[in-house]
Amino acid sequence: MKGKFNYEKLTEFEKWVILKKGTEPPFRNEYWNHFEEGVYVCKLCGQPLFKSEDKFFSSSGWPSFDKAIKGAVREIPEEPPDDRIEVVCSKCNAHLGHVFYGEGLTPRNVRYCINSASIKFIPKGEEVDSN
Ligand code: FE
Repeated sequence: MKGKFNYEKLTEFEKWVILKKGTEPPFRNEYWNHFEEGVYVCKLCGQPLFKSEDKFFSSSGWPSFDKAIKGAVREIPEEPPDDRIEVVCSKCNAHLGHVFYGEGLTPRNVRYCINSASIKFIPKGEEVDSN
């Protein structure tokens, strides 16, 4: 799998988040308060992951979505004591963030809490350049 994707285009910070499962700071990231029409793609492989219509303001300081594009992400339970559920890109395994259920924030009752560093916004009408 290595070599097919945009490893060389990632910044050191993006590599830390995407490859080492780092977490960027809340409120100091590109998309936490970004609400334009379009699609968010994986920064590493370009696969479309989330649609703007499924993004909501959670006040967490990270981009929050209550739905992922079908088949685009995989959910991986973490070991105790964290018991969080990691979310990765289904195509390239890039670390995206975590998913939380049952918070009651939206009718779907799901919050994908995603690092801005792991995604790239493509405005509506622009071509999605998926590898
Ligand atoms: Fe990917």
